[in-house]
Amino acid sequence: MTKIYASLLFIIGFSLQLTAQQPKKPNASKIHESIKKLNFLGSVLYIAAHPDDENTRLISYLSNHVKARTAYLSLTRGDGGQNLIGPEIRELLGVIRTQELLAARRTDGGEQRFTRANDFGYSKHPDETLAIWNKKEVLSDVVLAIRQFKPDVIINRFDHRSPGTTHGHHTTSALLSFEAFDLASNKNAYPEQVKEFGTWQVKREFFNTSWWFYGSKEKFKAADKTNLLDFNVGTYYPKLGLSNTEIASLSRSQHKSQGFGNTGTRGNQTEYIELIKGDLPKDKSNIFDGINITWTRVKGGKAIQDVLSKVERDFDFDKPSASISELIKAYQLIQNLENKHWKTQKIKEIKAIIYACSGLYLEAVADTNYGTQNSSVKVKIEAINRSSSLITLKSIDLPENISTEKNINLAENESFKFEEQLNISENTNNTTPYWLNKKGTLGMYNVEDKALIGLPETPRHYNYTFNLIIDNTVISYTKPLVYKMNDPVKGEVYKPFEIIPEASVKLDEKVFIFNSNEAKDIKVTVKSGKNNLEGNLQLEIPTSWTVSPKSYEVSIVNKGQEQTFVFSLKPLNNESEGSIKPLLSIGYKSYSKELIEVDYEHIPYQTILLPSESRVVKLNIKKRGKNVAYIEGAGDIVPQSLEQIGYKVTVLKVDDLSKENLSKFDALVVGIRAYNTLETIKFKQDILFDFVKNGGNMIVQYNTRHRLKVEKLAPYNLKLSRDRVTDENAKVTFLSPEHSLLNYPNKITQTDFKGWTQERGLYFPNEWAKEFTPILSMHDKDETPKTGSLLVAPYGKGYYIYTGLSFFREFPAGVSGAYRLFANMLSIGKTN
Ligand SMILES: [Zn+2]
Repeated sequence: MTKIYASLLFIIGFSLQLTAQQPKKPNASKIHESIKKLNFLGSVLYIAAHPDDENTRLISYLSNHVKARTAYLSLTRGDGGQNLIGPEIRELLGVIRTQELLAARRTDGGEQRFTRANDFGYSKHPDETLAIWNKKEVLSDVVLAIRQFKPDVIINRFDHRSPGTTHGHHTTSALLSFEAFDLASNKNAYPEQVKEFGTWQVKREFFNTSWWFYGSKEKFKAADKTNLLDFNVGTYYPKLGLSNTEIASLSRSQHKSQGFGNTGTRGNQTEYIELIKGDLPKDKSNIFDGINITWTRVKGGKAIQDVLSKVERDFDFDKPSASISELIKAYQLIQNLENKHWKTQKIKEIKAIIYACSGLYLEAVADTNYGTQNSSVKVKIEAINRSSSLITLKSIDLPENISTEKNINLAENESFKFEEQLNISENTNNTTPYWLNKKGTLGMYNVEDKALIGLPETPRHYNYTFNLIIDNTVISYTKPLVYKMNDPVKGEVYKPFEIIPEASVKLDEKVFIFNSNEAKDIKVTVKSGKNNLEGNLQLEIPTSWTVSPKSYEVSIVNKGQEQTFVFSLKPLNNESEGSIKPLLSIGYKSYSKELIEVDYEHIPYQTILLPSESRVVKLNIKKRGKNVAYIEGAGDIVPQSLEQIGYKVTVLKVDDLSKENLSKFDALVVGIRAYNTLETIKFKQDILFDFVKNGGNMIVQYNTRHRLKVEKLAPYNLKLSRDRVTDENAKVTFLSPEHSLLNYPNKITQTDFKGWTQERGLYFPNEWAKEFTPILSMHDKDETPKTGSLLVAPYGKGYYIYTGLSFFREFPAGVSGAYRLFANMLSIGKTN
């Protein structure tokens, strides 16, 4: 564990909002704010590409000050980012960042939506992005978001007019939004959506600009602001005791996996938006200028407005329940609205207000946090009315269409408790993120059930509906089944109730590299989701490889228990690769998925089911030297990968670096971004360079120019740039074909650059001393050749190598060429 990682966990441990998963319990001030929001009929959709792109100052301002219904449409779930709080990357990071966005919206009052686009990694230009995303599908999802949400105003985070100046995903989000503005109102565009949601004409579209987009504050000051609106987002909310900017920081700080903890500011702050479509408001501080945002915008709304204005005005902060009979009156009027869109939205809002005003508490809690098919769980149900209003609990609809009549008068502050049994049937679906159910492409999730497109998460399978009679009016509240427990330290802890399979299987590594004909141990862990599990475990292997034993009889007594089985896998003589999959058979059913638990305190606990599969690669790698020292940076699995090809790797802490400690190593490898993350490495540079002088090889992987902790990165001049090659198939030219790095002990050929993943490399140096020899040249489409991806210089008796090539991405993917090239880097200058 790196220091950064340790200290981050420390900070998180003390600053968490433990209440994130608990039911909302709004106080009188918050209820009054909700009533004001109920009386505002306008909406804004904010559009960008990733979790963390959104401007939380603006979202919070629109939601809490303007009172508009505000949503953030993030085209992706952020799978391609880095994780600062744990080991999850790719899809699992996307699952975490989805929940972080939801946590952010719970904080700033916005709503959250997505498209099916996958964050596949960095791209420099929207053309590159759209070559990987399916434009038609992503655009369809943006149009769908507009037709479902029906925003009056759209605000883009990025400028659609400046491709190539930022991440390709960013510009694409703005381009698609710009295009979708017109498509949403065109009945011939995506007609299958029109049948269900109709068309929608957005009134205005803006770009959320700032001085930054103008190059400097001076240039921005001098710029023509005719099309710009500005407003003060530093407003203070006395009822909440917070400035808008403080709420924005709390929201931003939910992006913990990105390390985006943010300190709040106070005071006036101006936000700018530039009109890019629609008519310019006359009042340049009001994005809704000229748009009717009162109840009178809907037919039949005037009567509702009359009732609810009174509720807002007469609200009793000491006794919110005094508003209930008027709220019920308004509820009935809203039920009669012809406008389906506003009816649905406002019914949801007013129901929540009635619930809060009456101090209602309705809950269904399972006695365990997960169940499996063909089993049952006990469910405790609680219902209480903490007001003097007359409320009757008529009935409760249990899952599987079972209803129980209750007809109980919920007397003031008297708690009613019931117990029910829930039988989980054979064909109940397991709980897992819906977008990961089916294998997608590099750029797109595959969502089979079209009704789920856009939703942030999979709807809960088990729900309990409480049918109440309040003031002679039937109102129903649906609550998902949850699990809660008392933690001696944290207190009340909530978890969603999950359906998991009877059994799950897991391999201990994602890739196994065989560098000889010797067999390797493959560990398979079986986890039981039920008591008394009996089955037969096998390992599927590539043809002509051999495994022993052929199978294991599995017998696990307790639900939740794990058992590990060891298979011995022997490769073919020749170079070959394939995949292995564990398969557990129980009767006529078979199980081949891994159950992954994501458990962080700032987001709800989750289980994810993914196919259990690992790559196996047989290589014939020659290598020299044996002992490798490793200094960990931001975290990568390079040490484990080098061990797989037969090196002995010792991970050293910066404080342990000394001449004596290093003397026993043949080579030293520095982990990704170590010179950005390790504060004290600057005090050890001379020791490291002396190690090279005395005959060691030092390999430094990529760092960023920004926040470099050392002035002298290498023994000779070496300057980093932002040069990167994001096309993983970009042509590679050998600049020094005779150089030892390309010939010894492994002959490197073009084949070694096939099958790379995500990118070639990043942050290559663009300036270096004459002692360095550049080995490779490569570049992205329409760019000049980049020659700094692999640089080597002799220093004393050893070699210093700097490389921005993405070995940390290629190793986990089992890319054989990356292993062969790295072996050469470790072996250079060594004779045996
Ligand atoms: Zn972004």
